[in-house]
Amino acid sequence: MISAGFPEAAWAVIGGSGTQGCSFPEDANASARVLEDDLVFETPFGSSPPFMLFETSAGRRCMTVRLHGWRDSVSRGESSRQVFWVLKQSGVRKIFSEAGVGSLNPLLDPRDIVVPDDYVDLTTHRDPTPVVGGHLLIMRDPVCTALSQALTRAAGKHAQGRVFGRGTCVVTEGPRFESRAEIRMMKTYGDIIGQSMCPEVWLSRDIGACYAALYIVVNYAEGIVKDWEHEVLKKIFMDDAINQSRIILDAIDAVDDSETCGCGDLRKPTLL
Ligand SMILES: [Zn+2]
Repeated sequence: MISAGFPEAAWAVIGGSGTQGCSFPEDANASARVLEDDLVFETPFGSSPPFMLFETSAGRRCMTVRLHGWRDSVSRGESSRQVFWVLKQSGVRKIFSEAGVGSLNPLLDPRDIVVPDDYVDLTTHRDPTPVVGGHLLIMRDPVCTALSQALTRAAGKHAQGRVFGRGTCVVTEGPRFESRAEIRMMKTYGDIIGQSMCPEVWLSRDIGACYAALYIVVNYAEGIVKDWEHEVLKKIFMDDAINQSRIILDAIDAVDDSETCGCGDLRKPTLL
């Protein structure tokens, strides 16, 4: 059923594969309270996927949605635009995203955590038109320093692997993985490879929100270190889901709302 109004929330979590192995947020923190569930909204880009509205233990209202890898019939670009339209209408100002990624940097191992500070967009079929538009989006510092520091600190408490507070994410179209030759090229571009940071990172700036992403390495990219195993990848997703959820919930409550991160200065009303 289509929901009539947009609930107010300052926070959003765009869920991916990292928390799929558990019921987010209840399994990670018993004092997080689900306020509304199965909220579907009409947007100019089609009906949205179902959202949940919850409150953290510190009382912060947060919209959450499983965006990555859902609904076969809707393209990744379309679904992103539906989701960011809803976040804009709800007044969301701070966004966390999570997903599993492959390692391009041979120093990284499965279960390591990377909170990227930059990206290279190699997607080919995602609509580059903004949802709000009318602004020059400067991508000099694409990730919010306040949000990424909160994620890195919380990851230090809950993660099973090592935690890296910077790194470049190469973003590909997917859903297929890459060939060895493609990875040989891409490893000169960045440290990890994933399919979700774009368009999220710049759509966040388009709607005037801060953005940071929590990525867990689930496999070596092809030709890096050794052939990855599907069983290991699946086990990491299942075993680490609650830890990933705890990191995000802790980070939401730890961010100081008064902090001036500077993200707002990177969205100019006009080009001139
Ligand atoms: Zn910011």
